[in-house]
Amino acid sequence: MSKYIDIHCHIKDISSKDTEQYLSSGIVGAICNATAEDEWAQIISASELQNNFFSGAIGIHPWKIHEAKANWEERLIQKLQENTKLMVGEIGLDKTKDNFDFQIEYFISQLKIAHILSRGAHIHCVGAWDKMLYILKENKKQNPPFIVFHSYTGGAELIKQLQDKYNAYFSYSPRTIKNISKKAYESILMTPADRLLLESDSDKITDVIQIATQICEIKKEDKEKLIDTIYKNSIIIKNNGQTK
Ligand SMILES: [Zn+2]
Repeated sequence: MSKYIDIHCHIKDISSKDTEQYLSSGIVGAICNATAEDEWAQIISASELQNNFFSGAIGIHPWKIHEAKANWEERLIQKLQENTKLMVGEIGLDKTKDNFDFQIEYFISQLKIAHILSRGAHIHCVGAWDKMLYILKENKKQNPPFIVFHSYTGGAELIKQLQDKYNAYFSYSPRTIKNISKKAYESILMTPADRLLLESDSDKITDVIQIATQICEIKKEDKEKLIDTIYKNSIIIKNNGQTK
């Protein structure tokens, strides 16, 4: 049976999820991303469970910066230091939302935290690719060891440079696939198999199976082989970039 990992999900009540049910359909793991500080504790406890199904990323999402409480950075660093398997996420930029200047500030400081603590980062970028490229370039030696561009919207032409310069991976969600745009279609075609990831971006973890099928159809590659490659990529991410 093919194996899948949901590389980027959001679950309100993680303890209510029946991981046995996922395992029976081949889904062997999921990385829960935080949007705000009040979600960190739940994600940390899920990532400590013995069955090793859930992993976690903690951070402040660009939609939630107005909710951040004083000294959040110190607490983020502390939690990441205490829990060495956690990644940083979800962080990023969203031009369709308010407070863009503050978003930039929060984003850069979390990139640096990920760099200092050597954690990969899950990045959200909507309508702000010029700024994203500018920040990653300016931030140069203080970027995370690898980046997951979740629900990637940057287009085919940015893939090679993001991969080469920032060790980026590209994750596709139901949002990418539903009424797929020409841009998204071309991105999927151009994403090298060893950089492809799948995500639900929600609590519907089983969605990754459907996305896998559609990506295989677009790339016209052997389904079993491609899903196996995506699974291997996911293991690297789940192990915070470690290949072993
Ligand atoms: Zn997300």
